[in-house]
Amino acid sequence: MPELPEVETVARQLEPELEGHRIEELEVLDERWSRPVPAAELGAAVSGATIEGLGRRGKYLMLALDGGRTLVMHLRMTGNLVLVEGDDVLDPSEGRLLYQGERTTSAKHLRARFLLDDGRELWFTDPRRFGEAFLIDDADLPLRFERLGVEPLSSEFTAEALGAMAAGRTAPLKSFLLDQSGVSGVGNIYADEALYRARLHPLSPAGSMNLEHLEALRDAVVAALEAGIDAGGSSIDDYRDGRGEKGTMQEKFLVHTREGEPCPSCGGEIVRIVVGGRSTYFCPSCQVRLRRRPRRRAK
Ligand SMILES: [Zn+2]
Repeated sequence: MPELPEVETVARQLEPELEGHRIEELEVLDERWSRPVPAAELGAAVSGATIEGLGRRGKYLMLALDGGRTLVMHLRMTGNLVLVEGDDVLDPSEGRLLYQGERTTSAKHLRARFLLDDGRELWFTDPRRFGEAFLIDDADLPLRFERLGVEPLSSEFTAEALGAMAAGRTAPLKSFLLDQSGVSGVGNIYADEALYRARLHPLSPAGSMNLEHLEALRDAVVAALEAGIDAGGSSIDDYRDGRGEKGTMQEKFLVHTREGEPCPSCGGEIVRIVVGGRSTYFCPSCQVRLRRRPRRRAK
């Protein structure tokens, strides 16, 4: 499932390709992608627009359009946004796979298709069909994203800010990191990697961290996400970047998916547990399980 580094990779790759180009037509092929807005209505609203940029907020892709509007897209479980050009197979009706080198975008799973002014196309493909999109006036964005947490790669993401979010929370650290209203963009992969880097046990109550732990976790979240971006994201299953290529972060995981393998630090065995319904990988020797802090008595 794409997380911040995967979405950031797509945005960074595609923005220079798309900026300034006109969308001749947006064809929405799946009603689920645009709902509750009818597919044809969203298509008509976006067709003819000029692209001013492509950015990211949390795990959302933000396609800035002229007229002060943004097409917001979420890849969810298995969505991909891929630029199709040149020798690529362009006939989605045949349901063929696109193959160009390592490229494996399936035309069968095409949900929406942007026809650009220079003949290239931008495809949103999604086998599981949880991906979605909506068009919004930029003026309404702050309200829409009101409950989305701090951007972990921004200067607002400090140990103090993390401490304020964690204060009094009894939820396990793993679940705390997955909560998009706290730190936005971190998912199952990078939560495991960050907790390992911070040497914190995933079941530690979030409110049990002292300043030292908070600083370690803050730095670890940033380091884990940056490693993911440097590697072009993780392709455990469906994720492909904006050019249809696999990321390489899955080859560099420290603990995630590495059950039974040696810990890179102590050589002990990495274990898998389930926290909040999510597979969680960690080193029981290196990652300290914090206890709930005793409540301060009022005088
Ligand atoms: Zn270890």
